[in-house]
Amino acid sequence: MVISPEKNVKSSIQKAPRQSIALISEHGDPAAEIGREEAGGQNVYVRQVGEALSRLGWQVDMFTRKANPDDATIVQHNPHCRTIRLKAGAEEFVPRDQLFEFMPEFVESFLKYQAKQNYPLIHTNYWMSAWVGLEVQKTHNVELIHTYHSLGAVKYQSVPNRPTIAETRLAVEKQILEQARCIVATSPQEEMMLRSLVSDAGRIEVIPCGTDLKRFHVIPKLDARKELGLKPTDEVVLYVGRFDPRKGIETLVRAFALIHHSSADPSNLKLVIVGGSAADKLDGDERQRIEQLVADLGIAENVIFAGRVGHDRLPLYYTAADVCAIPSHYEPFGLVAIEAMACGTPVVASDVGGLKFTVVPGETGLLVPPQDTAAFAEAIGRILDDELWARKLRKRASERVQQNFSWTGVSAQLSDLYRRSLAESIMGDGVILAPRKVAYSRVNTIPAKSLT
Ligand code: UDP
Repeated sequence: MVISPEKNVKSSIQKAPRQSIALISEHGDPAAEIGREEAGGQNVYVRQVGEALSRLGWQVDMFTRKANPDDATIVQHNPHCRTIRLKAGAEEFVPRDQLFEFMPEFVESFLKYQAKQNYPLIHTNYWMSAWVGLEVQKTHNVELIHTYHSLGAVKYQSVPNRPTIAETRLAVEKQILEQARCIVATSPQEEMMLRSLVSDAGRIEVIPCGTDLKRFHVIPKLDARKELGLKPTDEVVLYVGRFDPRKGIETLVRAFALIHHSSADPSNLKLVIVGGSAADKLDGDERQRIEQLVADLGIAENVIFAGRVGHDRLPLYYTAADVCAIPSHYEPFGLVAIEAMACGTPVVASDVGGLKFTVVPGETGLLVPPQDTAAFAEAIGRILDDELWARKLRKRASERVQQNFSWTGVSAQLSDLYRRSLAESIMGDGVILAPRKVAYSRVNTIPAKSLT
């Protein structure tokens, strides 16, 4: 039988073993329920990136700490991507700022897999994973790529009493920037922060976060409202995220109360708050505080606490809303912004961090100073009151996400970075390879229009 050369090449490609890589996310379990205490953007990022990288030909192992004895030790997401929960301390929830003491055990558990799989590249997420990566690098030849997700230097600016772990965190965040093969900043704003607050040394590439466009896309608004029991005439403001004081839900509730009290007929105004909480946890305290505030402000009839909602139903909430508000005090990226925009919902967000990058004022929503109740009320009111303008914002919002923030595109850039990193490590002598041009439109740099 004659085999054509093309066929030969194809069959040898199919048989080529996949390169194993490790993603480490010590507290952000990629297989966890999202939207509960401490399970947010980082979990989504690692899971989506891991699965997309496996579709691009990598064998992906994602490591996290086992925080519940009922959780499986290994969760297989597809034949080429799994979450592995490592033993590091008791199998119970431990808040992030008390986790560091368990990291040496995490390293020990990880090294058993490293011995078997021999990962040449580790992508670490959050500073404690960076510490794990740096420890592994002391005894193994591995390339480190790091994504911060949150930056101590920014966080501690607004915290009056620094926790005792602060000095260690700041030192590790500097060390990883200076020693990793490359840092992935998720926005140009994050890159600037790293340069001004952490170090001039080290390499940074900007690769944004993404969203799943198969899930988050425009669907008919009235259908979504019907499904959620909202009326076509309702004016709906939406919050999606964790219950954490730094998310600024208080600012939004107070802003909504201003709109409510200045409205001639507030009966159609609705504030929908999506996010899970557990009564015995810190997020339970914050939810209680917010519920009390809602009652004190006399707006309880207009506020709906929807609880945790999975990504399967979240597009309904985004679509049903007239405005999605993101009142965070700080946000390194803010996945909720691009999820809402992908569904064609304008965003009113704090003018901070990654939100400055994703939300284009006057084009896809509005940016206002963080914690400024009056400014949030005014911006949300402007969108609610101007249907024609809101329609334009909706169109531009979904276009912007489609062009720039798909997980497929983001993962293709990460995959390219990994390949270059591995090639550079073989070539040695400080060789730096340029990023490959990506086939889709690069990050948008539409100039921000002023609010006025
Ligand atoms: N989320 C969710 N269900 C909820 C609340 C939040 O799936 O009930 C998801 C949300 O869709 C987003 C993530 O949690 O993907 C939050 O990420 P973001 O970057 O906005 O904030 P973080 O939690 O990282 O501070």
